[in-house]
Amino acid sequence: MKKALRVTLVGAAGRMGQAIIAVANSESVEIISKLDQGDRIASAAADVLIDFSQPDVANAVCDAGLKSNIPLVIGTTGHSPEQRKAIESASKKLPIVLASNFSVGVNALFWLTEQAARILGENFDLEIAEMHHRLKKDAPSGTAKTLAEILRRQRKTTRLRHGREGMVGERDPLEIGIHAIRGGDVVGEHTVIFAGSGERLELTHRAASRETFARGALCAAHWVIGKEPGLYDMRNVLGLT
Ligand code: NAD
Repeated sequence: MKKALRVTLVGAAGRMGQAIIAVANSESVEIISKLDQGDRIASAAADVLIDFSQPDVANAVCDAGLKSNIPLVIGTTGHSPEQRKAIESASKKLPIVLASNFSVGVNALFWLTEQAARILGENFDLEIAEMHHRLKKDAPSGTAKTLAEILRRQRKTTRLRHGREGMVGERDPLEIGIHAIRGGDVVGEHTVIFAGSGERLELTHRAASRETFARGALCAAHWVIGKEPGLYDMRNVLGLT
């Protein structure tokens, strides 16, 4: 059996924190420190720090990693450009896995989206729809933003349209539409729509349980140990690059 990885978990009382605690044992992980709001973020005795909390915790998480010189796995989404910069700056000294989605299926969706956008070309209109539970705080989801970024790179456009209302006029062929639906207890659903003349391709991923994100994050935690400083994502962890 693998030696248990010693983990400090930030956001331990949250939905993702609880999912990680539930699967830790079976993934050879020992959660040595469970931190949540009101706790000082420190990680001295851990091998790796995992963060599933909220974006404004990014600076404290990076400082704790730098102070103890341990790698970070960051699953929190919705970072501002400044918070993202703090993570990029820490990744010059530490290996950091930052992923908007830790599920293997969603990472396959990322890959398939790239291929479909390349094959279908400019005559297909691009739209993304995501649905999450009513308690989710950021919109659109980090995963939808990653999908938009993949499409943007292929289409070479920066025109993202977040929803539509009123007399918006005809659709701009260069825009990428993003739509965030909220309700119930939906764990996470993402659809990428390629709408052409006379045909439409849709790629959909549905997560039914947070366990898939939790296991992916713990897989990333094992992977990041001993890596060179740098900013990695799940494609690196899964060997998809
Ligand atoms: P949640 O609201 O259930 O949990 C967040 C937890 O963070 C709460 O317990 C909260 O008290 C805690 N917290 C807030 N401020 C803190 C602080 N200063 N220090 C320590 N803890 C603090 O949310 P959730 O559904 O568990 O999601 C957490 C984050 O993970 C969100 O950003 C969400 O979008 C993201 N997420 C990512 C993935 C992925 O695969 N990358 C999957 C699901 C959710």
